[in-house]
Amino acid sequence: MSFSSEVKNEMLKVSDSARHCKIALLAAFINFCGFYDSANDRLILIAENTAVIERTVGLIEELLGFRAEILPFEGRRGIRLEDKTVVDKLINITMGGRRGYDIPPIDPLVVSSVCCKRAYLRGAFICSGSVSDPSKQYHLEFTNSGYEHAEALKNLISSFGIDAKIIMRKKHYVVYIKEGEQIVDMLNIMSAHRALLEFENLRVVKDLRNNLNRIVNCETANINKVVSAGVRQVEAIEYIQKTVGLGHLSENLRQMAKIRLEYPDLSMKELGEKLDPPVGKSGVNHRLKKLCLIAENLKGDQ
Ligand SMILES: [Zn+2]
Repeated sequence: MSFSSEVKNEMLKVSDSARHCKIALLAAFINFCGFYDSANDRLILIAENTAVIERTVGLIEELLGFRAEILPFEGRRGIRLEDKTVVDKLINITMGGRRGYDIPPIDPLVVSSVCCKRAYLRGAFICSGSVSDPSKQYHLEFTNSGYEHAEALKNLISSFGIDAKIIMRKKHYVVYIKEGEQIVDMLNIMSAHRALLEFENLRVVKDLRNNLNRIVNCETANINKVVSAGVRQVEAIEYIQKTVGLGHLSENLRQMAKIRLEYPDLSMKELGEKLDPPVGKSGVNHRLKKLCLIAENLKGDQ
């Protein structure tokens, strides 16, 4: 099962005790899984996940005392509400009585409390949301068919201090969040607590792996630094050799030059151990710098 499906299954099990939260959840189901068929004055809700439709039927029964029949809709499941009293009541409580919209805007009264905002976002996610497996990437999104609806959803999310963005994808407006920390907050708001813990665990593993990669890259960079310094020193010594000859150097420097030519890949510390008598890292550094300086001066003389 995908991470997204796990999250949705967990959310479907959350039960709201307050009537206002039940209305907010139902409003989200109607807005995201349903539409108002204005020609026939009826409400239709369709979902791929039968559990969503079962939950909708349950909510309508609790709120209005009306039991809707679940019907097949081209391989999916849905309900068709045609009873005028039921349709009127539903439009009143979930859309502030506003008809005439295929996709109704979010009624501000329905999401006036924080608890109801959370229930609405949970419902919207169950119908139209998805979240990537955090071991792959950080991405949570809601698909909206209208821009105004996407904008309203984005504002609802930002009321929790979360920075969502909107992009257009294949005629849909997608409200998305890309930051790991904010996805965790969002899962918390939508009451997906088990998914949140799993997300956090995978996120820790991923960050740890990234840190290890960074350390490995850093060590590789250090190796490159040693190699390139060695190459530069060898070039300098060879230049001295072919111009004035190593015999021109003091005993200390001549010995240093010969060892460096022999071992171009060794670190300063290792080079120091090869010298007779052995010299510390800073002594080696000093001698190599002097050799480079001599080469520079010789080049300057020409
Ligand atoms: Zn509420």
